[in-house]
Amino acid sequence: MPATELTRLQRPRATDEVYEALRQSILGSVFKPGQRLQVEEISLQLGVSLTPVRQAIQQLAAEGLIEVRPRSGTFVAQLNARDVEEASDIRCALECLAAESAVQRITDAELREFRRLLERLGRVLRYERERKQHEEDNRQFHRLLIECSGNRRLAEMYESLNAHLQIARIHSRKTGWAARLPVEHAEHEKIVAALAERNLYRVQQALRVHILRARQSLAAGLDS
Ligand SMILES: [Zn+2]
Repeated sequence: MPATELTRLQRPRATDEVYEALRQSILGSVFKPGQRLQVEEISLQLGVSLTPVRQAIQQLAAEGLIEVRPRSGTFVAQLNARDVEEASDIRCALECLAAESAVQRITDAELREFRRLLERLGRVLRYERERKQHEEDNRQFHRLLIECSGNRRLAEMYESLNAHLQIARIHSRKTGWAARLPVEHAEHEKIVAALAERNLYRVQQALRVHILRARQSLAAGLDS
């Protein structure tokens, strides 16, 4: 595997910084799913010793972003369709659970934030950087729902699960992405409208439709 470019860290030695650099490289598709990671090479490129790299890898393995195979090596996690389906089902359950408290607790300020994100998500996309921003806004939209629940443990579970699904998104970028946007937007609008009505049944129904569709289009881009 050829050397992958990483930028040398300004303040080396901290495991947190190595963790962050590796995480960004995986989620930003610098490291591809299934790619072998060489601890020595990473430590040289980042200008840090082996220990923080090994610690960061352990952390990322616990999150499911990296796979450590005994006597074989360390690899960027590779997901198949089944992984995506399982993770999506849990994501759906967590968001529906969040909705239960969210409809009770949501504030006008949070609804305004939902509408602001909705407006951003409805923009026409032309460039690669806009697509990245769109994905970030989409994640923010769903994260906001989780935050509205006020349940910190739920938020933690959700974050680690979501990182996993982000890898799958990297695979399935090519397939009809732009064509799905109007559908996605209509689904987001339904979620916000139901939240504004504080109608739990309708929020959960809209979430299920949205997440199930996303699940299918993600899994379609992967091997089963
Ligand atoms: Zn969404």
